[in-house]
Amino acid sequence: MSDHKRQLTGLTLEELTALLESRSRALAALRWLYQVSPVPAALPERIPGVSPEAWANVRKACELSLPRTVMRRVSADGTLKYVFEAAGARFEAVLIPAEGRSTLCVSSQSGCTRHCAFCATARLGFGRNLHAGELVAQFLIAKGDAPAGSPLRNVVFMGMGEPFDNLDEVLRAIGILEQPPAPQLGASHITVSTSGVLPGMERFLRESESHLALSLNATTDAQRAELMPQTRQWPLAQLLELLRMSSAQSERLFFVEYVLLDGFNDSDDDARRLVALLKGVRARVNLIPHNGFEGCGYRPSRSERVLAFQRIVHESGIRCLLRSSRGDEIGAACGQLALRS
Ligand code: SF4
Repeated sequence: MSDHKRQLTGLTLEELTALLESRSRALAALRWLYQVSPVPAALPERIPGVSPEAWANVRKACELSLPRTVMRRVSADGTLKYVFEAAGARFEAVLIPAEGRSTLCVSSQSGCTRHCAFCATARLGFGRNLHAGELVAQFLIAKGDAPAGSPLRNVVFMGMGEPFDNLDEVLRAIGILEQPPAPQLGASHITVSTSGVLPGMERFLRESESHLALSLNATTDAQRAELMPQTRQWPLAQLLELLRMSSAQSERLFFVEYVLLDGFNDSDDDARRLVALLKGVRARVNLIPHNGFEGCGYRPSRSERVLAFQRIVHESGIRCLLRSSRGDEIGAACGQLALRS
């Protein structure tokens, strides 16, 4: 990738309109980008709906060099895991086909700035932040692999990295994914998951309508500090107060992610504390089975504990779903993204 040229995948409609001196040409260029198959390795000399003279400006200022796919593996349940490489950084994405639509889990960083104890990515350390063009490119590549009856319509920022430590680029990528004429995902089809970076959460709630998922995983600060060290800076009470305030002011629904760990955070008392913490928050709890990896000191909760935990939360009136684990045999499941090839 050359330094002076920008990635076409990272341009907004407005920026493309300025380059092409016409909104209708910019719309034609975006239509082309999200329909062309396979995506060419370089910008062609002409594209439909744009005069070659106008397109020459784009070719001068931009390039189309998608990340290289280093590995691509399909699991028995159809989950597809990619390892990409761009400008010296490796990162992963996971395509999850389901009835009627597919979801892509994208990485926002190569490695991660945070150090969650239950997460394989944390062991890699931090590589670098990914640019918006690289975030959108993950969508562009995976789009072509979605099964015919299940087009790629959902994006979750739950791969490698803490999205709120790379928020400028994540917000730019969300804007691009939402813009017409393509990919034009609705805000409700995009979810950003955070380990609880409070300033980022505040900004995200001001600037984006997309879903926010809080990876909570604990019901006391001491427990959370062991799992997710940054909680010392932003304790549970502050994180949940923000969601409570937002719930009072809007119809926004928050996803609360909770990885169940055997004998650590899965007791009846934990479930009751979780219910108390979520009082006043418009929340849906997603219980996530822990996916093991070599050297991890935590084990997944036993199934009777998972069901008992779910029942307590559910009976309090909070919707509580048990997420199934997809792609764990290829290291594609939640918390397993660690560039294993
Ligand atoms: S759980 Fe998320 S924030 Fe925590 S180390 Fe893993 S990738 Fe980073």
